[in-house]
Amino acid sequence: MNIRVGLGFDLHRLEEGRACILGGVTFDHPKGPMGHSDGDVVLHAISDALLGAAGLDDLGTLFPDTDAEWKGADSAALLAEVVRRLGDKGWSPVNLDVVIATEGPRIAPRRAELRARIGGLVGLDPADVNIKGKTLEGMGALAGGTGVAVQAVCLISK
Ligand code: MG
Repeated sequence: MNIRVGLGFDLHRLEEGRACILGGVTFDHPKGPMGHSDGDVVLHAISDALLGAAGLDDLGTLFPDTDAEWKGADSAALLAEVVRRLGDKGWSPVNLDVVIATEGPRIAPRRAELRARIGGLVGLDPADVNIKGKTLEGMGALAGGTGVAVQAVCLISK
């Protein structure tokens, strides 16, 4: 069996009046992630981890934010396309581990939903999708819920 690892990172500002969609799950929060797409920073980091593992560049290269076609795009659909492209090369995800760092919406109470939703999108059992919420300890530019930073690591095999 051939295995490879990939790392993804993304960062989006939280703005008033935007829908708060993280990991394909809608949070009840007054601010949501800005972005050319729906701004789902969690799915962007996961997509980049998968693309990185397969050596397929990154999400911005596949779906440029200068392209009107992707304006307001559903990041779940972009992730599905990423998984399809990996599949074309014979790769399938083995597991994901994700850190969501924010002082905006609380992640921990929604963890089971996130695992199930993301697992459904990438074709993994929820047990193979780990989600960790982190606060910023009140430090730096993300303090007080101004944004969301996400790191994702994944293993793929064929
Ligand atoms: Mg992004």
